[in-house]
Amino acid sequence: MTSPLPGHPHIAYQNHASGNALCIEGQPLAALAQAHGTPLFVYSKASMLEALAAYQRGFAGRKAQICYAMKANSSLGVLQVFAQAGCGFDIVSSGELARVMAAGAVASKVIFSGVGKTRAEMRHALGVGIGCFNVESTAELEVLNEVAGSMGLRAPISIRVNPNVDPKTHPYISTGLKGNKFGIAHEETLATYQRAASLPGLRVVGIDCHIGSQITEETPYLDAMDRVLDLVDAIEATGITLHHIDFGGGLGINYQDDTPPAADALWHKLLAKLDARGYGQRQLMVEPGRSLVGNAGVCVTEVLYLKPGEQKNFAIIDAAMNDLPRPAMYQAFHHIVPLAPRADATTLMDVVGPVCESGDWIGRDRDLAVQPGDLLAVLSAGAYCMSMASNYNSRGRPAEVLVDGAEAYVIRARETIADQLRNESLVG
Ligand SMILES: *Cc1c(COP(=O)(O)O)cnc(C)c1O
Repeated sequence: MTSPLPGHPHIAYQNHASGNALCIEGQPLAALAQAHGTPLFVYSKASMLEALAAYQRGFAGRKAQICYAMKANSSLGVLQVFAQAGCGFDIVSSGELARVMAAGAVASKVIFSGVGKTRAEMRHALGVGIGCFNVESTAELEVLNEVAGSMGLRAPISIRVNPNVDPKTHPYISTGLKGNKFGIAHEETLATYQRAASLPGLRVVGIDCHIGSQITEETPYLDAMDRVLDLVDAIEATGITLHHIDFGGGLGINYQDDTPPAADALWHKLLAKLDARGYGQRQLMVEPGRSLVGNAGVCVTEVLYLKPGEQKNFAIIDAAMNDLPRPAMYQAFHHIVPLAPRADATTLMDVVGPVCESGDWIGRDRDLAVQPGDLLAVLSAGAYCMSMASNYNSRGRPAEVLVDGAEAYVIRARETIADQLRNESLVG
């Protein structure tokens, strides 16, 4: 008998001789933890490809390019899966560009977002021949014009507009409101496009927006689309042609009773609007990150100690805020489940890591029946976990395994202390 966990089609308890065991694509997670140690990130390739397929179905028969926003999970093996599936990539740094090229990306399908691109980063991206710079300010426009001009090139650009819609998500991951640092204000868009069109080092190719992350409602997308299309109408009325329209990423996943629309259902509605407004045959782009990888991964961790207390019980695990930063950063919720459930009565406890910070909790007030030595899986750990992991407390970052059916590939070895010390030296 198998019972997939809600929102995790390839992660399921399966009945084995020794009891129920949590498996990923049929492989027991406990065996992977035994072979590779903990904390350990494990990803399901089938889950990633299915998440991508929902977008591909949504865009069937359209001109659309899916650019995976690689900051969600930038491990080479993960990038390779998406490159082989035909994805483009949305990058935010020169480091990400180098990574994605190493993973086999096609440069012309790479777009470069971010408010703080340096001249060196612009030169790198122009040299490689990326598809588009998503420019976020007039100052950046001028610098990019200069850099491209000095290389005898014309930089393909899109301007990120700020549609001023509330994505109704956590304030740290809202990006399309007036008070955000991202994009160009609605009112300044026309003048900015006219300036861009007049600069010899630039070639205007598109328009883009990205309103936030972990969005679970359709309305903000529909509203943003209307705002962006109003701008496209106005820009094209001045004689500037926009080859593509990029609607960004941001679609949420189910962490805890979240009910985001499926990508294909969302795009069914969005495409109806595009058709109604006459833009259905335009080249479209999207930049999904979390929704392609978030629920494809888990972090397996071992319970080190139980620490009962008067006010709180704690389970201290070997994963911490440096491995799983989302709870400390955004008070985010991740389900935490045992790999081998015990029949014992459960106790309410906080699940915390070994780092010297009270913010180092992974789950609060969880009902668990665990003993030291037990293995737990922190769910929905495919996005914004490993890519945000740090060496705080001089902890080596975890290993990562990508499961593809009967295969399990180590796509990142556990970081050693030698790795950590490599770039450091004593004073004399
Ligand atoms: C982070 C980001 C994305 C991806 O967001 P998700 O919520 O992970 O889909 C897309 N575009 C831009 C510009 C971003 O900064």
